[in-house]
Amino acid sequence: MRQKLARYITIFLCLAVAYGLVLYLYTDNSRPENEALSSSQNKVNQTETVAEVEEGPYDETLTITAGDTLASILNRLGIPINQAHEVIEALSSVYNPKDLKVGQEIYVVYDDQKEGEAYDLKFLRLRADFENDIELVRTGEGFFQATKYKKKLKHTYVAIEGNIKVSLYADALRAGASPKMLYDMIKAFSFDVDFQRDIQPGTTFSLLYDTYKDEESGNERPGELLAAKLVIDNKPYEIYRFQPTGSVPGFYTPLGEAVQKALLKTPIDGARINSGFGNRKHPIKGYTKMHTGVDFGAPKGTPIMAAGDGIVERCNQFGGYGNYICIRHDGSTKTAYAHLSRYAKGIKTGSKVRQNQVIGYVGSTGTATGPHLHFELIQNGKHVNPTKVTQLPKTKLLGKVLQEYKVFKEKVERIKAEATKEGSKEEPPSPSKPKVLDEA
Ligand SMILES: [Zn+2]
Repeated sequence: MRQKLARYITIFLCLAVAYGLVLYLYTDNSRPENEALSSSQNKVNQTETVAEVEEGPYDETLTITAGDTLASILNRLGIPINQAHEVIEALSSVYNPKDLKVGQEIYVVYDDQKEGEAYDLKFLRLRADFENDIELVRTGEGFFQATKYKKKLKHTYVAIEGNIKVSLYADALRAGASPKMLYDMIKAFSFDVDFQRDIQPGTTFSLLYDTYKDEESGNERPGELLAAKLVIDNKPYEIYRFQPTGSVPGFYTPLGEAVQKALLKTPIDGARINSGFGNRKHPIKGYTKMHTGVDFGAPKGTPIMAAGDGIVERCNQFGGYGNYICIRHDGSTKTAYAHLSRYAKGIKTGSKVRQNQVIGYVGSTGTATGPHLHFELIQNGKHVNPTKVTQLPKTKLLGKVLQEYKVFKEKVERIKAEATKEGSKEEPPSPSKPKVLDEA
């Protein structure tokens, strides 16, 4: 028992000595002239060091860790406090130092001070965001000057195709698709495809999207899903992302039908229908008149949502309608909302709105006996009954817009063919690598 204990103590002592030796060697290798920095090595990573150079200038890439501020890391580097303040003040004209994030890198160049123990900062560069860099230089007069400049990003197209063995998400992800693009694709198809039931092994998929790459860091920002296709039981489902002139972007079938179910039937939560569509005696004026919409009774202030994506065509007082909003959804469909107590913040003529976005609040402005929403659906210039339409027609591109769409679709198809071809030139057609095409 005692022998065993002695053996353990010996092993422990040996380990302790070895650990001490390692520590000693490690400390000896770090720059001895800056004790503050070496002692806080765990807080600031030095990915680039000029340890062997005895005389400056020195350069280093510092990595922000939790709790760091620009002032604290400059301080640890050995930059005097008053100089760090000047740096922060100069930077603040183009960048908020509070936006620094954990993991963010800052490249610095600094030199020995002519007199004194500290260093002089000469240059600093950091990534403000994906598209912008910030550079800080010290001018001849000793002032700091900060500039923000846009980085050159490489725009590329990515085409991915494959077979579903497990699920669209799992298999397309393995094929290299971006998760955001898959999310957009599933969302767009979910109006027509039941992902629980319809998708069987053997279903094929393809998608095309664009990305913006910062070649220096290798970071990528996803662009947009441009086209996607599923073939289920030999039946193709194809969609293209298209923005009709003067409208919001959306996904359309090859025939120009919007995939998103166009409109909500009830653009208000928990409301009851007070008065339906059709002829009725006017509650105030007494005579019989065609009621061109549906009245939803709801307490004053109840939020009203946009029934579909579109552009606010009108947002002002409109006679008996009181406070009134009209949204144009496409060439043929509009919805109108009347008697509002007030408009939602930011809603005005020309605003782009999304389905379900709150546009205003129930009220009783104009000719109204009490708070309610008067809701109208106008198709091809005619008022139709929104509650009678069991399946609201899909938004359809018509006329000139449809022609524009067809031209656009052909262009996307060409890009997709090129991206697929380019990809297969570089490597064998394996589903594990995305096919990338540089923008011409
Ligand atoms: Zn009404």
